[in-house]
Amino acid sequence: MTSLRAFTEIVGADHAMIGADTARWARDWTGTYIGAPGVVLRPADTAQVAAILRKASQLRLSVTPVSGNTGLVGGAHAPGGVLLSLDRMNAIREINPRARTATVEAGVILSGLHAAAEAQDLIFPLTFGARGSAMIGGVLSTNAGGSNVLRHGNARDLCLGLEAVLADGRVVDLMKAVHKDNSGLDLRNLLIGSEGQLGVITAAVLKLSPRPRAHATAMVAVPELTDALDLLNRLNDASGGAVEAFEYMPRAYIQTHLDRVAGARPPFDAMHEVNILVDLAATSERDATPGGDGQTPITDLLEQELGAMLDAGRVLDATVARSEAQRAEIWARREAAAELTFWRKPVIDTDVAVPLDFVPRFLELADARVTAHDPGAEPFYIAHLGDGNVHYCVYPSGDSSALKDAIVTIVEDVVTELGGSFSAEHGVGQSKLATMRRRKDPTALAMMRRIKQALDPQGILNPGKTIPD
Ligand SMILES: Cc1cc2nc3c(=O)[nH]c(=O)nc-3n(C[C@H](O)[C@H](O)[C@H](O)COP(=O)(O)OP(=O)(O)OC[C@H]3O[C@@H](n4cnc5c(N)ncnc54)[C@H](O)[C@@H]3O)c2cc1C
Repeated sequence: MTSLRAFTEIVGADHAMIGADTARWARDWTGTYIGAPGVVLRPADTAQVAAILRKASQLRLSVTPVSGNTGLVGGAHAPGGVLLSLDRMNAIREINPRARTATVEAGVILSGLHAAAEAQDLIFPLTFGARGSAMIGGVLSTNAGGSNVLRHGNARDLCLGLEAVLADGRVVDLMKAVHKDNSGLDLRNLLIGSEGQLGVITAAVLKLSPRPRAHATAMVAVPELTDALDLLNRLNDASGGAVEAFEYMPRAYIQTHLDRVAGARPPFDAMHEVNILVDLAATSERDATPGGDGQTPITDLLEQELGAMLDAGRVLDATVARSEAQRAEIWARREAAAELTFWRKPVIDTDVAVPLDFVPRFLELADARVTAHDPGAEPFYIAHLGDGNVHYCVYPSGDSSALKDAIVTIVEDVVTELGGSFSAEHGVGQSKLATMRRRKDPTALAMMRRIKQALDPQGILNPGKTIPD
């Protein structure tokens, strides 16, 4: 209680919440991690974050940062502990249209930044289904990816400058808007993706991109998954690298979407095994100005390429969006992925990446080995195919932790054999701690522990997550 009084003095009584007021942070998005925090602190600015961490480090109290609480690995879950919510630090300080940067506080919601950038005829290209809740602090702390990584990179690639508060309350100011900065170790990129282990991110300078004047969006069915990479390369070659998204939805995913979403329609008259969402973006007037028939050159190009591949038997079917509403329908199908995965329990949720040309092999081996081990298991997946990231989930036949561990180990084995990563975009949090312990290079793990020890010697920042003991 002494600590509650001390924290209340920093943030004000209205912003130190206990009991029922903390209910909104009592469970993670997946419903796997349940338990209310002891207290939620909602600082107004960096100075208050620094004061909280100074006090917490004096009292040796652990502090877990939380932003939108949409993480899928239990990283922001702190039952009984101090949760530091950045949601009040939500100012967009500046959009600089000439330098194409945005300077924002950590609590800015991703979709809010999208709107602010678009008002200046620009975009912040990182996007995914949880954009209406996820905040910049969480996005950077998890080095989030999403559907446009193929063309624009992940959060790390889109961040120029950063401000963070360290465990002892010191503020590290890396808020430069420069594209080049070789002044010593890359601390910005160390903090990005560190899942609240090394500091609390309070502000950032982000890169903006030109707003596409037109999109060409299609659902494409190809005979085999191995044909998909040729389609991607062909479209990128023909369009000068205009492919923004290339998402794989297998038949089981399409069927689940039809079964579970009211009003959902199939992408094609017939059901196909390999369905790809393709999205090309044109930023130049040349590619985006409609011709006499009302169609843009970028859509003409997409249709030409798909037509040629249809003639060659490399594409089975294709539906090109003719309106924003049709494009939205195509995207809604893809963005329902998290809901379509987590409604059913028990679910084993993995998030892996393999080299682009190994995705079909990964799926073939993982499916075969998982179902050989557990004949009642049902694999269920979707992939950001353009960057080799597969959300490979399995509904096992039982709920025992031995069975679930065995299945995770099988998937990890395949990933390791193919030179992939067991954690492509959601981070490690709690759910991948065991995998981290057994699969990460031991020297890399030792380095991480040393860095953690140097920056947070008392281990008060987000304990029990990301870096295994
Ligand atoms: C429907 C849905 C779709 C999704 N799609 C994608 C996707 O395509 N790609 C993708 O990468 N992720 C995706 N995610 C996962 C999730 O949205 C991202 O990981 C997102 O970046 C988390 O942001 P958040 O603000 O909700 O962070 P939170 O969940 O609040 O926190 C995530 C982690 O970051 C830490 N943290 C939060 N704020 C800070 C801060 N200011 N400083 C330091 N540490 C902090 C937390 O302690 C925690 O460890 C999806 C989630 C959902 C629910």
